[in-house]
Amino acid sequence: MQAMRPRRLPPCLLSRAEGGTHSFYGIIKEWIIHGARRAAMKRSFLSLLCVLALCLGLLPATALAAAPGGQMIYVGNENVTRGGYWTTDNDGNVTAYTGEGTPADNFIHYDAGSNTLTLHNATIKEETPYDTSTLIVGAAIGVLNQNGNAELTITLEGTNTIKDVSTAIYVLAPSTGSANLTITGDGILNAISGSNPGIRVQSNTSNGALAITDAKVTASSSGYSDGVRIQCGDSSNASLTVNGGSLTATGSDTLFAGITMQFGSSSGSGTPTVTVSDNAIVRANGSAGGIASYSSSPIQYETGSDSTGGIVFDNGTGTVYGNVTLQEDLEIGEGESLTIGKGASLNTGSHEVIVDGGTLTGGDKITGTVKYAPTITTQPTSQTVTEGGTATFTVVTSGTEPLSYQWQQSTDSGQSWTDIVGATDATYTTEATTTSMNGYQYHCVVRNSAGSITSDAVSLTVKEHVHTWGNPVWSWTEDGKSATATFTCENDATHKETPEVTVTPAVKKPATCTETGVTAYTATVEFNGQTYTDTKEVADIPATGHRYENGKCIVCSEVDPAFTAMIIEGANGKWQKGSEDGLSFTSNAAFDDFQKVQVDGKDLDASKYTVKEGSTIVTLKPSYLETLPAGKHTLAIVSDTGTAETGFTVAAAEKQAADDKPANDKAASDSDKESLAKTGDDSMLPIAALSILAVTSIATGVFALRRSRI
Ligand SMILES: [Zn+2]
Ligand SMILES: [Zn+2]
Repeated sequence: MQAMRPRRLPPCLLSRAEGGTHSFYGIIKEWIIHGARRAAMKRSFLSLLCVLALCLGLLPATALAAAPGGQMIYVGNENVTRGGYWTTDNDGNVTAYTGEGTPADNFIHYDAGSNTLTLHNATIKEETPYDTSTLIVGAAIGVLNQNGNAELTITLEGTNTIKDVSTAIYVLAPSTGSANLTITGDGILNAISGSNPGIRVQSNTSNGALAITDAKVTASSSGYSDGVRIQCGDSSNASLTVNGGSLTATGSDTLFAGITMQFGSSSGSGTPTVTVSDNAIVRANGSAGGIASYSSSPIQYETGSDSTGGIVFDNGTGTVYGNVTLQEDLEIGEGESLTIGKGASLNTGSHEVIVDGGTLTGGDKITGTVKYAPTITTQPTSQTVTEGGTATFTVVTSGTEPLSYQWQQSTDSGQSWTDIVGATDATYTTEATTTSMNGYQYHCVVRNSAGSITSDAVSLTVKEHVHTWGNPVWSWTEDGKSATATFTCENDATHKETPEVTVTPAVKKPATCTETGVTAYTATVEFNGQTYTDTKEVADIPATGHRYENGKCIVCSEVDPAFTAMIIEGANGKWQKGSEDGLSFTSNAAFDDFQKVQVDGKDLDASKYTVKEGSTIVTLKPSYLETLPAGKHTLAIVSDTGTAETGFTVAAAEKQAADDKPANDKAASDSDKESLAKTGDDSMLPIAALSILAVTSIATGVFALRRSRI
């Protein structure tokens, strides 16, 4: 029932129509139309269609094109021109099959009637020997016709390999006629040549054509040649047709192309044509070009008549021609591109376009799923940190979401990598580093449903921590007697040191009698080879208080408010005129504080007395005293610290004094003299003497009274 698939019917039938059997095609068409209209006849119609399809399937399309006359076909060292079965072994040897029916597996069948060579899981490593033909010697499959067209249809079943030969497939029409190779079937062929093209289709005078239908064909040269070479005569046509399936052609060395189209002996005129249809994919790679043509005319890229197309990758540069529906996922890898050409379209169908390192142009003409594998737009950078610090690595990516990240670490310079648990974001921050991590490498593996990519590996440099101590922060006790100095590492604030501190006091400002003094406490710390100091001043020296001597502070000279200047010796002294001695008075005030002497309230010239230390001893000179009237006088010693006062008496001359002697009681005479002095009149002395007597008697009575009270 495979033949009922609409995709397969048209080429088969159309080829007949094109071949001139229009009426035959018309009959079937009529059958289809009428069959569809008449539901009642549907059953018989289907039966007939099946029979027809079955016949067509059994009779290969090429059956109508029998092998051209004079054509010879070789497989390995076997001439298969007459048809039959051959088997292949694991060594690629081709052996004529002598058994009954069809070999179980790994066989080659040539049907001369249809000119079809079937490869069924065949492996061929044998070359056509020299003695069969000099022209196609070295070919694993060689087709030669020296008198006309050289033609062959190869049908692939399973996976087939041709290798270790000079030429994998060689179809040659050296003299006249065209060269045509058709590879069909759902199988796979891997054709690897040595120093010749993997597949070579050559007409020296006419057209050369390679057609691949549905098959997956890979052709390459392991020596010095093209993957595929299609040669034709000058001014003839070279054509490559891939209708469904795929062709991958790879040239070797620097001089060769994936697919070469050659005209004449090398270059010439003629039309090179590449036709892709039915979602075919052609990949051609070679140093001399993916697809190289030596015609003066450019390569014509065409699509199928039903406008189905295909994709051609010319050294990675992909172009979509016509309308293409993917038959498998299409990956656009690193260095590759895909452009959806004018008037073309791409439907991903049940597959997807995966952009994995390549570029996509005209994506708006794509129907279906396009995924972008992760790309890294910003690579991580190597990091240098100080031990204890952390390092952060970041990768910036693009690609179809969701993207996943996995950072990996290598501790052996990138030889092996292990996942870092939990490091699954675009950014990874290490734990606190240690010097043992110096030289570790990191990279990130980024994944999504379209693929994965690994970032650049970057390294971590961990420098040993070096403390950098600045100036300390000082902390004092309130009394200034102790202090601490705290050093903090500028490279890591958690590093602190508080070395021992020595505090030395010094008097900054001494205390005075009334004001407290100040102590300067100097804290000193030795650290890291340096000496640091800090000073705190505390007013902690108590005032000394005054130290009074003789009523005055010997420190600050302040007068003692409690001091009373007084005559402590010589108070109420008496001096008799005529006496040669002076009259002395002693003040308790200090000699240094002495200012002046006053007698009877008047300042006394310094020439009239002497003064000396002890504390202050003032002696009125006799010459001065002589000038004073007899009687009572007052004397004051004025000092800084106060005035000491007393009275004194000047008595008359000795002669008169003798008269007074009986009454010479000290107290009585004082009062006598006082009254006398106050008179200030010497002429009154007799009267005064009388008065003294009277007063003395009174005073004596008073004195007696005082004593009795004691
Ligand atoms: Zn530190
Ligand atoms: Zn003082």
